[in-house]
Amino acid sequence: MTAIVLDGRALAATIEDSLRAEVETFADMFKRRPRLVVVLVGDMAASASYVKSKAAAAARVGIDADVVRVPATTDTGSLVALVQSLARDEQGPADGILVQLPLPEHVDTLAVLDAVPPDRDVDGFHPENAGLLSQGRPRFVPCTAAGVQRMLIDAGIETAGRHAVIIGRSDIVGKPLALLLAAKGTGGDATVTLCHSRSADLPTITRSADILVAAVGRPGLVTADMVRPGAAVIDVGINRVDGRLVGDVDFESVRKVAGWISPVPGGVGPLTVAMLISNTLLAAELRHAP
Ligand code: NAD
Repeated sequence: MTAIVLDGRALAATIEDSLRAEVETFADMFKRRPRLVVVLVGDMAASASYVKSKAAAAARVGIDADVVRVPATTDTGSLVALVQSLARDEQGPADGILVQLPLPEHVDTLAVLDAVPPDRDVDGFHPENAGLLSQGRPRFVPCTAAGVQRMLIDAGIETAGRHAVIIGRSDIVGKPLALLLAAKGTGGDATVTLCHSRSADLPTITRSADILVAAVGRPGLVTADMVRPGAAVIDVGINRVDGRLVGDVDFESVRKVAGWISPVPGGVGPLTVAMLISNTLLAAELRHAP
């Protein structure tokens, strides 16, 4: 068997096309464009490149995007104050406010993320949005988790009644994805197992997966012998190996066993960005909702 390769770039382009039309409707109605503000702390190359792609995607669909750059030495209090000042719309309406992670070690990341008002929290990291998702009434869903679910739905990969195994229990990917796949409805109703660094006998668990998602940050973690023939394998990992981007899945061996596989790059990454843009439009629309 050779797996179907899930083309995240193509799907993201399709999503952008429909968002572009919705943004035009919004702009006609409210005589302004939705606006995303991204706070970039320091000069980490990976963060700068993610922020660049987010701003470029916003521009492609007609959403205004501004990047506020501050030095790596900025302390927690100043970052909280910056986020609060953005939320006062002093430099224009900030429908979506995003603080690019990771923050420098001396910064209290949760304190900064908690300062983002929940109705502008387009990353979906605020406890209020995490709570809404856990109760099955999502508002802003964390973008990578939403992107993975969208990819499964678009490819026609059945989730209802299937066993989904997620490796990685982070608040930004693994946990929200587990909630989405276990929720009632389209792209949900799966039986979910959430694995992590302390999980015993990972290969036995992963071999029982109809859908296997790797979100760890370890190249080559998922090998062909860990995959049930015909399973859908979604690779969230982003790792730099010898100057090349690779995921957590050993792509060449796993593609011979899996039914579907998402590549890195060109898989989940573009969808994460598309979901952010979708969340930004939603934030702008919610501000004008009666
Ligand atoms: P994280 O470091 O917060 O979490 C990693 C998780 O992996 C933890 O829950 C840990 O328990 C688990 N883990 C570590 N070693 C393990 C092992 N040997 N076996 C099983 N589980 C193990 O990471 P994160 O922020 O969730 O990101 C995970 C990966 O996804 C990273 O490579 C990150 O760059 C990537 N990522 C990609 C996107 C995207 O858009 N494609 C978005 C976010 C994160």
